[in-house]
Amino acid sequence: MSLLVMKFGGTSVATPDRIRRAAKRVGREVANGHDVIVIVSAMAGKTNELVGWVNDTGPFFDAREYDAVVSSGENVTAGLMALTLQEMEIPARSWQGWQVPVQTNSSHGAARITGIPTETMAARFADGMKVAVVAGFQGVSPEGRITTLGRGGSDTTAVAFAAAFGAVRCDIYTDVDGVYTTDPRIVRRARKLDRIAFEEMLELASLGAKVLQTRSVELAMRYKVKLRVLSSFDEYDENAGTLVCGEEEIMESNVVAGVAYARDEAKMTLLGVEDRPGIAAAIFGPLAEAGVNVDMIVQNISEQGHTDMTFSCPVDQVGRAQKAIEDAQAAGGFAYSELLADTDTAKVSVVGIGMRSHAGVAAQMFRALRDEGINIKVITTSEIKISVLIDRKYMELAVQALHDTFDLDKPGAERSVRA
Ligand code: ADP
Ligand code: ASP
Ligand code: MG
Repeated sequence: MSLLVMKFGGTSVATPDRIRRAAKRVGREVANGHDVIVIVSAMAGKTNELVGWVNDTGPFFDAREYDAVVSSGENVTAGLMALTLQEMEIPARSWQGWQVPVQTNSSHGAARITGIPTETMAARFADGMKVAVVAGFQGVSPEGRITTLGRGGSDTTAVAFAAAFGAVRCDIYTDVDGVYTTDPRIVRRARKLDRIAFEEMLELASLGAKVLQTRSVELAMRYKVKLRVLSSFDEYDENAGTLVCGEEEIMESNVVAGVAYARDEAKMTLLGVEDRPGIAAAIFGPLAEAGVNVDMIVQNISEQGHTDMTFSCPVDQVGRAQKAIEDAQAAGGFAYSELLADTDTAKVSVVGIGMRSHAGVAAQMFRALRDEGINIKVITTSEIKISVLIDRKYMELAVQALHDTFDLDKPGAERSVRA
């Protein structure tokens, strides 16, 4: 019996009507002879509302209770989806994370899946169950507490089930009809990609393209899950959507595959840091312990034994970062003269495996930003991506300019980098 995983995101289950529509798609796959594991998100906006309520209780909440609250949105949609399928006379039942159980570590709010035992659910399929509806985004810790997998985590639930059950495919149904060269909500001429390489998708996701959670792409790559992103609103078509696959399965590609952005970044600068061995460890150790996700790091040249150190992190972690640094200074860890926080920045990145063999991408990127009068504050590069930190007010303009300069609206290859 072939098993398929189908994941429906928030907008695809936003109302009882949409749940019915999604259930019809599931019904078609059952009619095609599949057993189906359906992973559902909370209704659109629900998780944000729950997070807001938790934040309203106070600034220093217990992360275990955050998870207890924030995971609840998925319980509702899982039950409703099972009921809707039963109405259609499809044998279905819902499973919350702890019932499977989806085992995770104890990192509340950003837990990692450590195991999914398949026996119980497989036995139910063997008994005639056709659809298992699983609440996405949630699991259970070794201590028996409810955990959540980080925002966008239902994608990861879906891929993890596909890997655990050896599914023929993992279909991620969302509100766009695939992975685009950039967010189609920002660039109207963004182009849908028929295929994208795991490595590129991984970079795009980790650089802000929220169409797939980064961890889901990592898992799909590791366990060779056939992963497809498609719209739950379009008419069904065998070849719909975007297939995330191995590089070798892609015939034609641009040097730059896509542009990603992360809107809410902050740039933190420590002025007058003493320049000595161990200083970076003294700064970034406490930041890591405080759970600050430091991204870009730049150290200036040293003058008279002192230097400036700049790093970026998500805006909502600025307070935590400031406290960690001040505490470390007070504890005698290191000295600095001033700590500056610029909370109005955004990160824009270009990604493409073609960069491995093509020079000139960075220069072209910087020219395009210059032509728009956009100042670059920090730059980082890796083998297949270049990221810049800029003023947030120019973010959309930068994404558009980069999409244009690399001709991403046109399929094709080499020509997209100008000498
Ligand atoms: P879901 O609720 O279904 O999980 P998300 O909102 O998490 O959906 O992800 C889909 C959204 O991702 C799209 O609506 C789109 O605005 C955004 N997005 C960002 N970058 C891209 C991209 N390169 N391709 C497609 N969508 C993108
Ligand atoms: N509902 C969760 C969120 O909004 C998980 C998900 O939808 O993937 O982040
Ligand atoms: Mg999502």
